[in-house]
Amino acid sequence: MWKNAAAMDDCILTNARIHTMDAARPVARAIALRDNVILALGDENAVRSLLPDATVIDVHDRCVIPGLIDAHLHAELTALGLKTIDAEAPTLDGLLRRVEERAKITPKGVWIRGYGWNQNVWGGTFPTTADLDRVAPEHPVYLTAKSGHAAWGNSLALQMAGVTPSTPDPAGGEIVREANGEPTGIFLENAVELVDRAIPEPTAQQVADAMRDALPLFHRVGLVGIHDFDGQRALQAWQILRERGELRLRVSKTIPVALQGHAIATGVRSGFGDDWLRINSVKSFADGALGPQTALMIEPYDGTIDKRGIRTLGKEEMFESVREASAAGLSSAIHAIGDKANRDVLDVLAMVRREEGSPRLRHRIEHVQLLHPDDFDRLAQLNVIASMQPIHATSDLHIANRHWGKRSAGAYAFRTQHNAGAVLAFGSDSPVESFDPLLGIHAAVTRRRPDGTPHPDGWYPEQRLAVSEVVWGFTMGAAYAAYEEHRKGSLTPGKLADLVVLDRDIFSIDPMEIAETRVLATMIDGEWVWQS
Ligand SMILES: [Zn+2]
Repeated sequence: MWKNAAAMDDCILTNARIHTMDAARPVARAIALRDNVILALGDENAVRSLLPDATVIDVHDRCVIPGLIDAHLHAELTALGLKTIDAEAPTLDGLLRRVEERAKITPKGVWIRGYGWNQNVWGGTFPTTADLDRVAPEHPVYLTAKSGHAAWGNSLALQMAGVTPSTPDPAGGEIVREANGEPTGIFLENAVELVDRAIPEPTAQQVADAMRDALPLFHRVGLVGIHDFDGQRALQAWQILRERGELRLRVSKTIPVALQGHAIATGVRSGFGDDWLRINSVKSFADGALGPQTALMIEPYDGTIDKRGIRTLGKEEMFESVREASAAGLSSAIHAIGDKANRDVLDVLAMVRREEGSPRLRHRIEHVQLLHPDDFDRLAQLNVIASMQPIHATSDLHIANRHWGKRSAGAYAFRTQHNAGAVLAFGSDSPVESFDPLLGIHAAVTRRRPDGTPHPDGWYPEQRLAVSEVVWGFTMGAAYAAYEEHRKGSLTPGKLADLVVLDRDIFSIDPMEIAETRVLATMIDGEWVWQS
């Protein structure tokens, strides 16, 4: 175990395969740190002679990279999700034991939530309130089925939701009942809502607690920072952690477009904040998603006659909104999945760029999942950041093939965007996908899943990137998208001492091995926050 250097003590990591992400010095063998800042890099002797009294840590020829930054993550949803029970259990008894264990560590009266059960795995019979009452009589328990179309509560949950034998079935839903009319605890379709809406929203303090508990999990996978796409309660929660001295993660916070007017009224601008907590962009949506075919398309979805998805924000309205934000110093981060949505956003940003005096604002498109070939070069031309999530490519490939067919050649097109000259900022969209950035790096380098599919070269392998190009997106690209490339993103003298030690050199191993690579240690602000 490496000890944290005492305050003001210098520290040198030696015998390291350092990949700096700094074009001025891409590799080094030693790095010197003073307090929370990088002092120097170079070969062993040069760095050691610079600081003869420094504490020296031999990292045994391991790979050292800048701390990783996830440029698109929903931190509140991720943190609260970690607090719910994994209800995907092979037996009913097994699940009930998990509920019992959770009840032991949860204050009485506090809701216990979970997701993932499937009665068919247990023989086909729905469970009842009595099952849950046996293991958690003093906590309201509500567990959602894997399908999302059913939920199961205990007696206290039903009582707190005001569900009685006389409660009528809602339209499009059913309260499953005994012969005598007594609810069994199972709710189907729209009836799921009856209990859901009785569950209180967590307070900012509770969200802060959940985030604090999630931080070690972020550190374990090498994350030193995130761009957080949740709402204002999350911004409060980060500030609460800051006040408590518990914010051990660098956060760049977006603002929901619904609050844009309020943000402008307070006078806050993108980039406001400090090395720990900084305001990013205003987040809005141009369309839906690929799976439910709500992503907005130029041509109909494959296999349909005229299905083109859903426009969630009119182009005029989008223009007015982005222009207003831009005039107030706020950049925009606009969700766009389909090729038509991406084209609309690019059209709007082109008009906004014409009005902007200086190119200061770091506008970004979130996901950039499908571009029409005519639009390939436009992000680079407009200096718009491509905020992409490499793991989506390998997760979505079958559904993209099905709905987009040959158009998928322009989908999750990392290489196309890189070569066009766009800044790529990579993230995960957790909790939609795992927040482990090594899985993202693996996906962008191989275009294959960890199990090797699709064989042998991956999905549209011409879109693969080199390891250094992907790591750049998870470091410098993300730092640039947060207005802080002068402080973060590379191992450069004067920048913050945020770095990660890996158990193998991802720049030279078989790329398929990147998915198995482990983080040995993570340093934030000169302090080791994780060591295996
Ligand atoms: Zn998202």
